[in-house]
Amino acid sequence: MNIIIFGPPGAGKGTQAERIADKYGVVHISTGDIFRSAVKNGTELGIKAKAFMDKGELVPDDIVIGIIKRRIEEPDCKSGFLLDGFPRTIAQAQALDTVLDEEALDISSVLSLEVDDQEIIDRLLKRQELEGRSDDNEEVIKNRLGVYRDQTEPLKSYYSNKNKLDEINGLGEIEDVFQSIGEVLDKYI
Ligand code: ADP
Repeated sequence: MNIIIFGPPGAGKGTQAERIADKYGVVHISTGDIFRSAVKNGTELGIKAKAFMDKGELVPDDIVIGIIKRRIEEPDCKSGFLLDGFPRTIAQAQALDTVLDEEALDISSVLSLEVDDQEIIDRLLKRQELEGRSDDNEEVIKNRLGVYRDQTEPLKSYYSNKNKLDEINGLGEIEDVFQSIGEVLDKYI
């Protein structure tokens, strides 16, 4: 089973992704985590990515696509993977399609977590208090939301045209959201 989890910043992708990976035995690939770890380790990738992340902008497609391509080709992904934070642009989705074709793989489901803007802003401001992520301040959050609406949200029609989109209500308790996700994913086992 290969899955994409999709939604605005603060929708709970990372939280749900960990649970999904656990329950369904798929490899969790989070581009946000890959970049944050590169930043922490001061690698060349980290230095490049930080400039974009701090402004709430997207890291350029060619950088992200290269990372994902190499990761998906690793042997542990053969038993299934879950993409969290990728694709985020139509170009990334098209590049992913090419990689999947080359590897004779397919996506089972694109889980779209639906959460309204006010809830997102509240959650991200709270996360800043708890985790202190440098891109969780109000100005950068607004930019990330704008980038999401302009560049990432169009992916919903991209995947619904391919009959891959599964919309999930992202409001409510973590366990309730996970329950809704489970009802969808169980169909693909
Ligand atoms: P969130 O979904 O909360 O905004 P992520 O942890 O997924 O956060 O990503 C944090 C930042 O990392 C993004 O704002 C962006 O700068 C960068 N990033 C992550 N994934 C991608 C991607 N697929 N393409 C471009 N930039 C990305």
